[in-house]
Amino acid sequence: MARVISGKELSARLKDEMKMQVASFPEKYGRVPHLVVILVGEDPGSVSYVTGKAKASEYVGIRNTTIRKPDTFTEAELLELIGELNADESVDGILVQLPLPKHIDEDKVIAAISKEKDVDGFHPLNVAALWQKQDCILPCTPKGIIKMLDSAGVDIKGKRAVVIGRSNIVGLPVAKMLLDRNATVTIAHSRTADLPSVTRNAEILVVAIGRPKFVTADMVSDGTVVIDVGVNRNPETGKLCGDVDYEAIEPKASVITPVPGGVGPMTICCLMENTIECFLRKMEKNPF
Ligand code: NAP
Repeated sequence: MARVISGKELSARLKDEMKMQVASFPEKYGRVPHLVVILVGEDPGSVSYVTGKAKASEYVGIRNTTIRKPDTFTEAELLELIGELNADESVDGILVQLPLPKHIDEDKVIAAISKEKDVDGFHPLNVAALWQKQDCILPCTPKGIIKMLDSAGVDIKGKRAVVIGRSNIVGLPVAKMLLDRNATVTIAHSRTADLPSVTRNAEILVVAIGRPKFVTADMVSDGTVVIDVGVNRNPETGKLCGDVDYEAIEPKASVITPVPGGVGPMTICCLMENTIECFLRKMEKNPF
């Protein structure tokens, strides 16, 4: 039976620590950190993510401003809004909720956010800094995954890690962060030949695909550490589920993360941490 890493519990503990830290800021710095979240359109998934971010901010004591715009909002208007927020000294973090409506170029928008306020860690300069082992804002989901492994006492060094998925948001950065912790990393994707033979070789398996129950028990060796990043709806029950067949794999794994209550809460927790980091760097004149 696997040890289950509860992202819910770990993130609750970390948020309590941040809450205490933030409570000391008004006296020290004259104000609390300020996160601005922009949502364009009405996508229900995005609305719920943005609400979760506002709730977490409120809990930790971070000032949150959520700006909601209709999906008729143009790219030029969005870029102008970001420009204003970049120049606003009272704003420490800017997050544009993805995905954006099709008429808006996401890459252009991400690149427009000031690197110092890029709490998501998606700006090309932050990405480049991560790959060059320079000081940077780490992307929230991969950062949360590493924290979960550390909290479970998983020694990453020297392990064979397999990451399924090579997106800019999850797969690639988590692979790089595992590499930086001296794992030997294989990145698998939709063109990987004989995926089960690759995943069976993993001591740490990170799955970020977006397909319910894609990873089956025969793809995982006994004792593997399994991190499930996927967020899907089970087609039969309509309930949230991950990319791995949890019931079948949990008895084989040494450590596993559940969905929901695993990587998801850690992502929001790391967003809070990144906002505090951006704030402190500004206050202490120690830019990235
Ligand atoms: P994405 O951009 O769609 O990338 C999916 C990756 O999976 C791609 O690299 C793709 O390979 C690979 N893939 C697809 N089908 C495959 C197959 N049959 N075999 C092997 N690889 C396959 O998705 P993403 O943004 O990385 O997100 C992945 C999942 O994580 C989604 O469910 C998303 O909702 C979830 N997510 C969760 C959090 C969280 O906080 N919990 C945060 C972000 C994302 P190719 O590159 O070859 O196309």
